[in-house]
Amino acid sequence: MKYAFPPQAPSVVGIKGSDDWFPVRRIYCVGLNYAEHVREMGFDRQPPLFFAKPADAVVYVPDASTGTVPYPAQTTDYQYEIELVVAIGKAGSDIAVADARSHVFGYAIGLDMTRRDLQAQAREQGRPWEPSKSFDESAPIGPIHIAAQVGSLTAGAIWLDVNGTRKQSSDLSKLIWNLDETIAHLSRYFALQPGDLVFSGTPEGVGPVVRGDLMIGGVEGLGELRTSVR
Ligand code: MN
Repeated sequence: MKYAFPPQAPSVVGIKGSDDWFPVRRIYCVGLNYAEHVREMGFDRQPPLFFAKPADAVVYVPDASTGTVPYPAQTTDYQYEIELVVAIGKAGSDIAVADARSHVFGYAIGLDMTRRDLQAQAREQGRPWEPSKSFDESAPIGPIHIAAQVGSLTAGAIWLDVNGTRKQSSDLSKLIWNLDETIAHLSRYFALQPGDLVFSGTPEGVGPVVRGDLMIGGVEGLGELRTSVR
């Protein structure tokens, strides 16, 4: 086969303690999955809400380094959302909650960067979320920690500091739909495949960043993710 032009190489994420790379197939995201964040966005409890980002939205940030993301075009309200990311390692559809964990390859810290003003417009007008969520370099992510090494993350702190000030602080146990339930729900709509990433939702405290700001986010057991805005 001869391509008209060279196909783009897959986006990849490093794996903690391994020389292998995790090739990203799709990025799924869960919206409104912490009760306090649902309240701050003006909603009540709902079934899980899914959206997606393109695989090449990934910005891989290795341990002990600081990644950078550009301040994006077409917004004046560029916001952070710290999230626990689940990396899928085994294919499945209609996965039972009790089986969900067997499909997990590992876990990482991620940022679901958002053009909040465009999201608000989309909500008001009943339009798609892509311009607000699925733009270039909107998914910084740290290394994937293999599930067998860190256990199942059902509880533990999740936080984000901007320029040294704590902005988001919660616990994974406060997820409305926990990781097993999220994987089960998602797999009813989409056939999951190895290489899929699932951003599991952000807790309350989301807010804007500007050029020069440094975001340091963490999830207990996974270290920290450092990202600055250029
Ligand atoms: Mn999010």
